[in-house]
Amino acid sequence: MRVRFAPSPTGHLHVGNARTALFNWLLAHGKDGTFILRIEDTDAERSTRESEAGILEDLRWLGLEWDEGPDVGGLHGPYRQSERLHLYASYANELMAAGHAYHCFCSATRLEADRQAMLASGRPPRYAGTCRALTRDESRARIEAGERPVVRFKVPENVEVSFRDLVRGEVTFNTEVIGDPVLVRSDGRPAYNFAVVIDDALMEVTHVIRGEDHISNTPRQVLLYQALGFAPPEFAHLSLVMGPDHTPLSKRHGATSVAEFRERGYLPEALVNYLALIGWSPGGDEELLPVDELARRFALEDVGHSAGVFDIEKLAWMNRHYMKEAAPARLAAEAARFFSARGFVRRRTDAAMEYLATLLPMAVGSVDRIEEIPDRVRFLFEFDPAASTQRGDVIEVLHAPGAREVIAALAEDLESAGRLDREAFRAAAGRVRQKTGQKGRMLFHPIRVALTGEAGGPELDLAVPAIDRGADLAASAGVAQIRGCRERAHAFAETIAKL
Ligand code: GLU
Repeated sequence: MRVRFAPSPTGHLHVGNARTALFNWLLAHGKDGTFILRIEDTDAERSTRESEAGILEDLRWLGLEWDEGPDVGGLHGPYRQSERLHLYASYANELMAAGHAYHCFCSATRLEADRQAMLASGRPPRYAGTCRALTRDESRARIEAGERPVVRFKVPENVEVSFRDLVRGEVTFNTEVIGDPVLVRSDGRPAYNFAVVIDDALMEVTHVIRGEDHISNTPRQVLLYQALGFAPPEFAHLSLVMGPDHTPLSKRHGATSVAEFRERGYLPEALVNYLALIGWSPGGDEELLPVDELARRFALEDVGHSAGVFDIEKLAWMNRHYMKEAAPARLAAEAARFFSARGFVRRRTDAAMEYLATLLPMAVGSVDRIEEIPDRVRFLFEFDPAASTQRGDVIEVLHAPGAREVIAALAEDLESAGRLDREAFRAAAGRVRQKTGQKGRMLFHPIRVALTGEAGGPELDLAVPAIDRGADLAASAGVAQIRGCRERAHAFAETIAKL
């Protein structure tokens, strides 16, 4: 089995296309097949090398490595269409010689006039066939006179073209609705329908799996396979990925590119797992499955043909799961750029990364995305009693009976304490309870406010040691300065004493 993903490098990798790549990859991996990456860059105006590099990077980030492709090579290269122009030219000549193709000299104005006329008479617009009747001598004379024709495919008239689609079953088109498509433009560049057939045939692709936006191209391609004497591959057209309003997922719905999802702090395995389940189900109730297991279970026959709706809540749920599963060092590395962006980490030293890894248990489980982690532990880096005591929820805590006494006692107790780990914190809290007679919320809410500046947040058993571990970091660790618990309690008690 040989499958391919054939993106046009004209922008970012859209999640819908990433799903197409994934389905190809799953099939290849489950069936010991070959996954080919081909770059369809014949649109010289819109294709860029930056876009190509971005698509490769996104596919690698998703873990969808290819066996043959522009960078890794292979026996069926080159894998960029712009490097295969000689092949298209040679097959175009072959089709011309066999009478399956002809030169067309119609101007854009002429084509547009024909189109309008057909629309006006209620017929579907298609090429009127004007140049079909030109003899070879007439064509040659016009070329010698300096005209630059396109090459058109001579579509057989009024025949039924059928192919079996592995997702949709038998699909049939009558050639009456198909005008003669352009195969080669006047500048020598091949049109999509032509290049794709030559490439899929020469690259010995056995299964063409792509978005259903290409289904109306497929009969043209089947006819080309026939004219060229190639055996057509199997086809599978995947329903498109829709937004919640059932229109194709687009910018209007928010993030659409893989790069954006990465930027927002989704893990690649979450996106992969989620995309696999749009329009396909592995069977049973299990949905959280690693990619190898998805590949083992994947079958095109089980892919549904109704459109799949992109459900951001479900993706968030999966991302929460994979964040919990991720090794702390890896998640810390992923989170580092978001801490840097906030100014919380200035240099990503080993000590900084180790410290970040210890913070994760406070955040994982309560955030949807890696991007949200720094905010969850913001209290470490931003501690400002004057600002805190202006906030309603903090004021409410401070107004509770005994709250100020708890804070004063805490400040006093910590004056002689060292850095707090969990046990030392519990011991200190025990002494404050003894001294003030407060317990439960009446004890811990004021303590939280005094040490974190916030009325809510992660468990104090985790937060307090994290504060003091941070306060102990050397400046060379590259982490923004963190004030320790003793300094915090002292400063907070002073601030409320002045209120
Ligand atoms: N370059 C085409 C696209 O990106 C590929 C279509 C196909 O797979 O045949 O839509």
